[in-house]
Amino acid sequence: IRMKAYVDKDACIGCGLCVDICPEVFSLDDDGLAEAINDDIADDVLESAREAEEQCPTGAISIE
Ligand code: SF4
Repeated sequence: IRMKAYVDKDACIGCGLCVDICPEVFSLDDDGLAEAINDDIADDVLESAREAEEQCPTGAISIE
């Protein structure tokens, strides 16, 4: 299954939680907002990426 993560920068508040939970996928950009790598999420990383999606306080992350 090929899954990718997306961050809605209009919703992101830059709390950094997703980076703490899943640094393989998420990082903060120069504006301090999260961004997701543009690659398919590796199988062994998907679980933590999903955790970040669930924990994001503003629901800015989607994985599809
Ligand atoms: Fe932005 Fe959500 Fe990540 Fe916090 S957890 S930095 S609000 S995407």
